[in-house]
Parts: sequence; C-alpha cells; structure tokens
Amino acid sequence: MEAPSDLQSQSPEQLDARDALRSFRDEFYLPTNSAVGASKDLAADEPCTYLCGNSLGLLSKLSESLVQGELKVWATRGVVGHFDHPYGRAWAEFGEKLSPLLAPIVGAHTHEVISMSTLTTNLHLMMNAFYKPTADRFKILCEARAFPSDRYAFHSQATAHGLDPKTAVIALTPREGEYTLREEDILDVIAKEGPSIALICFSGVQYYTGQLFDMQKITHAGKHAGCIVGWDLAHAVGNVPLALHDWGVDWAVWCTYKYLNSGAGGIGGLFVHNKWDHLKKPDYAGWWGQDLATRFQMPEDFTPIPGAWGYQQSNPSCLALASLLGSLEIFQSAGGIPATRSKSILLTGYLDGLLRQSSFYNKAGGPKFTIITPSDPYRRGAQLSLLFSPLGVMQKVFDGLKSSGVIGDERQPDVIRLSPVPLYNTFADVMQAVETLEEVMRSL
Ligand SMILES: *Cc1c(COP(=O)(O)O)cnc(C)c1O
Repeated sequence: MEAPSDLQSQSPEQLDARDALRSFRDEFYLPTNSAVGASKDLAADEPCTYLCGNSLGLLSKLSESLVQGELKVWATRGVVGHFDHPYGRAWAEFGEKLSPLLAPIVGAHTHEVISMSTLTTNLHLMMNAFYKPTADRFKILCEARAFPSDRYAFHSQATAHGLDPKTAVIALTPREGEYTLREEDILDVIAKEGPSIALICFSGVQYYTGQLFDMQKITHAGKHAGCIVGWDLAHAVGNVPLALHDWGVDWAVWCTYKYLNSGAGGIGGLFVHNKWDHLKKPDYAGWWGQDLATRFQMPEDFTPIPGAWGYQQSNPSCLALASLLGSLEIFQSAGGIPATRSKSILLTGYLDGLLRQSSFYNKAGGPKFTIITPSDPYRRGAQLSLLFSPLGVMQKVFDGLKSSGVIGDERQPDVIRLSPVPLYNTFADVMQAVETLEEVMRSL
C-alpha cells in the first residue's frame, strides 16, 4: 500500500478492499451497538466502532473454541488431562507450548519467554531477581507518569530495600509544556547518573501518550552504563515490532489482554535474556520452574529449567493459556507482527490524518482537541491520545461517542485514547470514529 501521507484522499472502502488482513475481522467477536450501551438511533445488532484494543482486545472465535475445548477435557478427563490430553495440550507442559508462538512476537528465543502469572506480579518478580541495590548503585530510573501500578511497584521495591523512594527513584517528566519524554533527556540522565543507577525500567509504549520509546537505544545506553535494563511491554506487545534478544534487554514483562486479546485478567508474560542463564538462577523458586523431566516427581532440591521457564512458580490456568493460544495462532496466520504492524501504520496514520483535518483540531477558542501522541509513525503504536479542552469537554465528547457506538477509553481529566487494531478494525471504523467525533463536538 501507499505512503501514509496520501491516505486521506482515499475512501475507506478503497483502503479496506486493498487490506491484506481484512478477512481477520471475521475471526473476532465485535460487540454490538446495543451491547455497549449506544443509545443513538443505530442498528442495535450491528458491530459498534471498537477502538479500545489498547485497553481490552476482543475475543477471537478461535480463543473461544480453545477455551471450550479445555472445559470439555476437564469435564471428561479430570486430572488425567495433565498428561493425556485429546488435543495434544497436556496441562503439565501447556505453558511451555505457547513459547514458540510468543517468541517471534517479542523477538526472543523460545526459552527466553514464558506465559505466566500477571504483569505487576511479574514486574515484582523480575525486580526481586534483578534489582540488587548496593551503596553506590541503588537507583531506579523510570517515568514519573508511568502506569500507577508500575510506580507503586518501583516505590515499594525501594522501600523494601530500606531506601527512601525520594532519592532512590529517579522519575523523569517531560519538559515544561511537552507531553512526551525526549529520548535525549533520558540518555542524558543515563550518561550523568549511570554509575548510581541499578535499574532502568520504562514502558515500551507509554500507556497515556502512546509514545513508542527507542528501546534499542535506551537499552544500549543503560547496558553501557552498567545498569540492569528491564521493560514493561504492556502496550507494546502485539502492537509494535520488538527484538528483545538482539537489543540485549535483560528482562521484560507484559500482560496479554490488551493487543494480545487474551481476555480480561489474562495470563502475563516474561522475558529473561539467555545471557543470564549461566550467571544466575531464579531467586524465588516454585515447583513449576523445576526441570521438566522431574517436575512431577517433586524432588527434594530445586533444579530450575534453564532460561525464563525456570522463573515459573505456579501451575498456570489452562483456560487462560488456551485463550492466549487462540490469539497467538491468529497472529501467526496473519503473518506475525511484520504484517500487523504494516497495516497498523496505515490505519493509525489514516486516523491521525483525518483528525488533523477536523475543524476542531487545535481550533482557536471553544471546544477543541489536539493529539499528544508523536506524529512520527515510528514513534508510536496503534494508539492516538486526544487531549481535549477546555476542561469538561472530554467527558461530554466521550459520552457522545459512546452513545453513538464509538468505543475508546477516557483518562481523566482530559484525554481520550483511540486505538484502531489491525487484526479487527477497518479503515471504515476509523472514518466512522472521526465523523462521529466531528458531529459530537459540533453539538456541544
Ligand atoms: C495495563 C498495565 C498494567 C496492568 O497491570 P496488571 O498487573 O496486569 O493488572 C500495568 N502496567 C502498565 C504499564 C499497563 O499498561
């Protein structure tokens, strides 16, 4: 397809007709207008305009049938399903079975990734393993506007080590009047404070602004300064290309209910670079990290599986794994992240271009909005964050969009996030959202 710059001159129908991924929409359940509470005069059973995959990805028919399959095995075989499973997904090693599909999504070797637990818990686990402050090197470098869970985690880790978060946590804020952090400012702090920084942990894609950080550059700078570099990939995984292994990232964590469509509270994920395999063992052992040959013999001493797999602690939910597996198989049949990212750049570029043509974009006076997500397609993922003013306008716009069947999500007090997802959104969805936004703002 063509360069993002001349997209806006084309009709959404033309663009959808040439979309190589268009058939994948039918693989997903799209909530209907009536089900999401749209009250306007809309066809009740028609799909709503769902632009909220950044918050909760949609259910695929494949995930549904795989989850039903697990229920069936549980119903018919009970405990026997751990070793003798009619669909070849014996629960005893189900988690490990997902790693070959997960690895290409994050750019890792199979043994460097595992599906386990949940994001914040994995973040703590990784910090327990890799954040080892000393008298000289004890600081955590992060974003001041990180997702609250991450901020709580950083502060509580510092406190648990007897440190004062005020001095131990360096939380970077954007420059005065700016919304996104400049990479040069991050690199500057690493250069200046490197010797005192134990851990650098940013999000790959910032949840609020949609900014995609240059993970390779930041990782290299951090490693050069002798720091541990970990990433929270909640909004990056399944959204943008990742090459965790080649970038030399020490560890990373993510959730899978956003762009990986595994369902609310779905199973999380973990990456540990294989350079650590010979340097350390998991510090907080559990039986699921035990060598696969003896896991169920439950030996006296813990012999971990090498790599990320050894960090597992508990037996994972087969329902959560089945749901994620369905989504990972869809990614694979779609051609993986290279394919979804190519469409995503066009789809979000289309949204960006149409929004900038709106009469309310950066309007002088009255209700208006601007876009705080970087305009460079390579510095963002699927999401655009719209900042509304004056105060109070955002809520009215959000409610108006919702009652017209356009589902984004709100961040109080003034931001709406819209994320067209390449696997199930269309160029027509994007046009519908922009036209509705225009209508709603005109009616204010
Ligand atoms: C979504 C998100 C979370 C949520 O954490 P859970 O432990 O999955 O509830 C945490 N951090 C970031 C950056 C997120 O985007």
